[in-house]
Amino acid sequence: MQIIIHRGTHQIGGCITEIQSKRGTRIAIDIGENLPTINKEKNTEIKVVGLNTGNPSFDAVFITHYHGDHIGLYNKIYPNIPIYIGEHSKQIFKILQERLEKVELTSKKDLEKVDSFFTYKIPQKIKVKDILVTPIEVDHSAFNAHMFLIECDGKKLLHTGDFRLHGQRGKSVIKALKKYVKKVDVLICEGTTLSRNNEETITENELQKRAEEIFKNNKYNFVMCSSTNIDRIAAIHKAAIKENKLFVCDKYQKDILMYIDSIARSTLYKFKGKVLSYDDNIFPLMKQRGFVMLVRDNYISKNVIQQFPNNAFIYSQWNGYLNEKFTEYKHLQEFVPKNHIYLHTSGHADFKAIKKVCSTVKPKMIIPIHSENPEAFEQMRIRRLYDKISK
Ligand SMILES: [Zn+2]
Ligand SMILES: [Zn+2]
Repeated sequence: MQIIIHRGTHQIGGCITEIQSKRGTRIAIDIGENLPTINKEKNTEIKVVGLNTGNPSFDAVFITHYHGDHIGLYNKIYPNIPIYIGEHSKQIFKILQERLEKVELTSKKDLEKVDSFFTYKIPQKIKVKDILVTPIEVDHSAFNAHMFLIECDGKKLLHTGDFRLHGQRGKSVIKALKKYVKKVDVLICEGTTLSRNNEETITENELQKRAEEIFKNNKYNFVMCSSTNIDRIAAIHKAAIKENKLFVCDKYQKDILMYIDSIARSTLYKFKGKVLSYDDNIFPLMKQRGFVMLVRDNYISKNVIQQFPNNAFIYSQWNGYLNEKFTEYKHLQEFVPKNHIYLHTSGHADFKAIKKVCSTVKPKMIIPIHSENPEAFEQMRIRRLYDKISK
């Protein structure tokens, strides 16, 4: 079994991992776009022979989850290479792409490509010639995110994708690893937080309690968070309902929440009948009852916010985007007030969680990815490989 990390051993996002069997079967795990930093050098596109340049020779691509830094290059690879994604991930990604198509940020052709994705469902195993792939559902800021157990040439490899253990489904991750994975030869592990260790790791439950306090003390509340961070929205929603506030969002966001409601069993994701889609007709009701409204960095949201000057504005996503090295900084500055309340917890594993995964699957070798500080893994006294960037 040959492992090539085409990109991602010294950066967060944009990861592409290749597994190749002795018989020449080739699969890729994730085909991510780089995060939008102002460092232009980092934003150059990557060419991988067999995937998007030279003769097509990849047998399949497996996507861990729908974040752009893992799926963003889906429309840049050869059309005959099958792409596999979790079944709910595909639907959420589709709703997102349909919205982008309306504002001409993606094309009809891209939407057709998304439609053509194959889906996997746990505990189903997928066989690609002599490589066996088992998806394991994990806890992350994307719904229906997965790790992959790869079995090839008599060896076992676990690719973590993005994960954490402090969210709603954190406990089930270790249980699933014990049941489906056990010991592995190689662990390819994300290390996002190892260079962002100034952030406090609180659980989503704790975050929900803090949100309740804010909603208790403020009649009008705006929350800016990712439209596809379902567990965060569920926590905010639960807090709003507890404090007897209206829960308001736009039609696109409501479409996502109604989809989740239709497929999820947990009461946490029961949104039906409790979510109001924003339009002028509910204005008097919003004024009278008080509300929690999910907003976005656009003028429609800004307009509503201006109608309620005495509000609490919660910024509930990574605060790195408010740093000037990110391209979003300038744009976000216009929509995030200076006196905002920062209420967030990472979608990524902290050091303790990474150690817990290591001690569960006991790898002989660990390869850090999705990290700006892979050296931190040395503290675990485990060997690691270095980039083999394809040019
Ligand atoms: Zn990522
Ligand atoms: Zn992610």
